[in-house]
Amino acid sequence: MRDKKDNKSTRYLLIIYIFLFLFLALASYLCYFLVVKSDKFVNNAYNPRINAMEKNVIRGEIRASDGTVLAENATNSNNELYRVYPQGKLFSHVVGYTNKGMSGIELYNNSLLLTSHEFIGDRVKNDVAGKKNYGDNLITTLDPSLQKACYDAITTEKGAAIAIEPESGKILAEVSKPSFDPNTISENWDSISNSSDSILLNRATSGLYPPGSTFKIVTALSYLRDGGSMNDTFDCHGSYTEGNYTVHCAHNESHGHQTLKMAFANSCNVAFSKIGLSLSEGILKDTAEDLMFNKKMNLDQHVSKSLFRLGDEESKSTIMATSFGQGQTLVTPMEMCMISATIANEGTMMKPYLVDSIENSNGENVKTTSPTSLKSNVLTLEEVSELKEMMRSVVTNGTARSSFRNATFEAYGKTGTAEFNAAKDTHSWFTGFATDGNKTIAVCVILEDTTSYASNSAYKIMASYFN
Ligand SMILES: [Zn+2]
Repeated sequence: MRDKKDNKSTRYLLIIYIFLFLFLALASYLCYFLVVKSDKFVNNAYNPRINAMEKNVIRGEIRASDGTVLAENATNSNNELYRVYPQGKLFSHVVGYTNKGMSGIELYNNSLLLTSHEFIGDRVKNDVAGKKNYGDNLITTLDPSLQKACYDAITTEKGAAIAIEPESGKILAEVSKPSFDPNTISENWDSISNSSDSILLNRATSGLYPPGSTFKIVTALSYLRDGGSMNDTFDCHGSYTEGNYTVHCAHNESHGHQTLKMAFANSCNVAFSKIGLSLSEGILKDTAEDLMFNKKMNLDQHVSKSLFRLGDEESKSTIMATSFGQGQTLVTPMEMCMISATIANEGTMMKPYLVDSIENSNGENVKTTSPTSLKSNVLTLEEVSELKEMMRSVVTNGTARSSFRNATFEAYGKTGTAEFNAAKDTHSWFTGFATDGNKTIAVCVILEDTTSYASNSAYKIMASYFN
């Protein structure tokens, strides 16, 4: 009798457990959907819910970190709302537009801008009166004066600049040129979208470029990880030949007998070709991938994947070229800025972000973004200190010394000249960071097809930040 009863209760228990399990599975999927998937689902332009939201909510404003309005609404003579961008060309790529499809912050935060956290009483009143509710406003991490400094520092027709606060990942400025005026994008759509200059492309985040000598940061780090030392020496006679491939240093300058640090500061292609040939197979790729090459980044904006390719058994010429940033490697300015920011932040790579907080239309905080790390301990503290020492010497005695000769702050960086066509025309790069003891900033600049120096632009951006 007792056995039977036990059996029965075991069965009941089993059924209860099965139901409990099913309930928990369902509940956790619902949570997962609400937390992880729903934003993507809601942001999908094909989602009919967006249309419904647009009918009931007046799109929120987008503001800079100091309150400067970057996007707001105005009413035309037919009493229809339209979007206004008071800063014109200055923020066009990063903020985006809404009147010819969508892009930038407007696109990535579409559902947030169409969600209203107005006081419940106001919402009820609006609903009864058949009026629209006011959508939430986004306060971005963008600093208008730094954005202007970046915009002005891109002295070429085409280029990009990006600035990140290393300890938080806040994107302080993000500029791409040529720019366009989002207020008149509808009128000028044909000329803008058909231009061979890829005007709509946000070069800071989606432009893929050969990294040139800025890649020597990755090669030097690989060498240290492969058992090399900062005191190892290399001889440079201005050029170096393996088989029928010859590498030249800039202006065929002979750098002589130099340590790794000196070779880095002088951006010696001969030394870095020798380093590349000496590396254990796969280490350059592993190091690049540690630094987020070949990885998709899930950020609050689109960022292209930076690409590193170097298979096993590559030719010596390919290995040599890859070691100093030619070859098949392609990077975004964002990626190179994140590498500098990681070094500045003692080896932890913070997740870059643009939306700092959300406020309701009454100015009350709805949500603030907490900085999060994208990857911690990317670099050991020893690697950080060695990379800092090398990047500091670029600015004090190396290829960027003349750009930074008047600096009142402590700067670190790496210059680059990247050939992008058979005619050997070049882009100019600088990636680095600077501190004045209180604040730190990471900056990356690329100037396309130029003989100007991106290091001069980076200096101006950093100087503007500390003044
Ligand atoms: Zn050299």
